[in-house]
Amino acid sequence: SFEVQDITKSFGGETVLDGVSLAVPEGEFVALLGPSGSGKTTLLNIIAGLTAPDSGKLLLEGAEITDLPAGQRRFGMVFQSYALFKHMSVADNIGFGMRVLPRNQRPGRQERRDKVQALLEMIEMTDLGDRYPAQLSGGQRQRVATARALAIDPRLLLLDEPFSALDAKVRQSLRASVRDLQKRVGVAAILVTHDQEEAWALADRVAVMNAGRIEQFDTPERLRSAPATEFVADFIGAMQ
Ligand code: ATP
Repeated sequence: SFEVQDITKSFGGETVLDGVSLAVPEGEFVALLGPSGSGKTTLLNIIAGLTAPDSGKLLLEGAEITDLPAGQRRFGMVFQSYALFKHMSVADNIGFGMRVLPRNQRPGRQERRDKVQALLEMIEMTDLGDRYPAQLSGGQRQRVATARALAIDPRLLLLDEPFSALDAKVRQSLRASVRDLQKRVGVAAILVTHDQEEAWALADRVAVMNAGRIEQFDTPERLRSAPATEFVADFIGAMQ
């Protein structure tokens, strides 16, 4: 399991995370849901190792990883800022993460090729491995980005608003396929979203964030039937 313990973070005197704790059990899909500015992306960046917390700990399978560099965490990331490499084919994009793994974790050439092929099948793009990102639809690009994140057998899958640039119809079908891939691989996932519908569609449990704190961490059903705070009741009510 993955654990966030009492994380705090301020930017220029403004407290952005105010003692956040969260435990993600094996194989669960967790969403961080909250209004703009509530600290979701900052928390995800701290989990990814892209931002250092002021205090608090991150634990993976009981081992502390708070100071482990991002490149050594072996986390799969589907972030908008990590677009596909334009000059690389689809297959090379998917295989890229495996080639930059630390030497002792890096699969050999044939194993990498087999893995890319298996992932192309999983995302139903078997015949598109030689294409370049510019020759794909937005939904296909997103599937490739997800496959790229899964190729390294990540210990955790992190997604930051991965579908926000896509139209409603594509978004629906992609949600289903990302959730399907995540369950098949069995990796725990953390998704940042301000879209309640997205959280409901994907997550086993949802952490509702407000002003740098988690107001409630619960199943979608429980959040609706038993909101723990007025904020949760209002936020969920307002967006229905
Ligand atoms: P959104 O849904 O709009 O992305 P969010 O919940 O993800 O919001 P964050 O992006 O974590 O929120 O931002 C929380 C607060 O921290 C905001 O007030 C933002 O201005 C501030 N913040 C985030 N990163 C930095 C930074 N690098 N320097 C200064 N302030 C920052």
